[in-house]
Amino acid sequence: MISLLGIPYDASSSFMRGPAQAPEAIRKAIMSPSANLSIENGMVFEFGNTVTDLGNVDFQELDFESEGAGTGRAIARERITARVSEALKTKRKLLSMGGDHSITYPIFQALAPNYDRLTIVQFDAHPDLYEDFEGDLYSHACPFAHILEEFSHVSLIQIGIRTLNQLCRSQAERFGVEIYEMANLPEPGGLRIEGPVYLSLDLDVLDPAYAPGVSHHEPGGMSVRDVIAQIQQLDAEVIGADVVELNPTRDINGVSAMVAAKLTRELTGKLLETHAIG
Ligand code: MN
Ligand code: MN
Repeated sequence: MISLLGIPYDASSSFMRGPAQAPEAIRKAIMSPSANLSIENGMVFEFGNTVTDLGNVDFQELDFESEGAGTGRAIARERITARVSEALKTKRKLLSMGGDHSITYPIFQALAPNYDRLTIVQFDAHPDLYEDFEGDLYSHACPFAHILEEFSHVSLIQIGIRTLNQLCRSQAERFGVEIYEMANLPEPGGLRIEGPVYLSLDLDVLDPAYAPGVSHHEPGGMSVRDVIAQIQQLDAEVIGADVVELNPTRDINGVSAMVAAKLTRELTGKLLETHAIG
């Protein structure tokens, strides 16, 4: 059994809000009577059986308008870290549903200390390696810079990048990030990784034709099948995952929510293939 946690937080998005509505949209798409709960590896996504739903982190009364110690966004990060720490005590693997991509940093503050080494495989159109973005240290454009600064035992592989500027290229060199740009995708199953892996799936890695319901449309991306093949054939023990950046306010007929639901089921299948936290 794995744990599922919703993180309805989008106050660190640089361009538009909306991903806070994603956890409910993904749950609804998963339970849609238009589809069943099958996972392609033969397992089933079933609440109470293979998946326990922990509900959402609660941010309701927080004021997100300012940043700094003691303000809403700082408290939100603390709550994410605390909820993830609590969830990990069960020894079940955790699948988090964002929210914007900024949530991966507070997730890692709880998760990373449990491991001696950990590799993140990030699917994303963007490297998210800024030191700060437009003055915001904790923007969704920054989480992986801070994770790599804070945790020297964590390494990062990025897949599907197609927005690499000079600044992020030098950040990637500084942190030793292994980048597979869109023009140079690895063969599914082709990555050689020692030790446990965390999968971070930003839905804008997909071509907007497959998932228009994201804040940043970046054409020339992966197909849903490309991403599924990478997940299914990844030759590693996957110990946790997140699905981020679904923006239901931009979706068309819920098609991106269905894509997020499908990928959530496939990630669940990957997490279930091997169990017990490392
Ligand atoms: Mn991202
Ligand atoms: Mn992105």
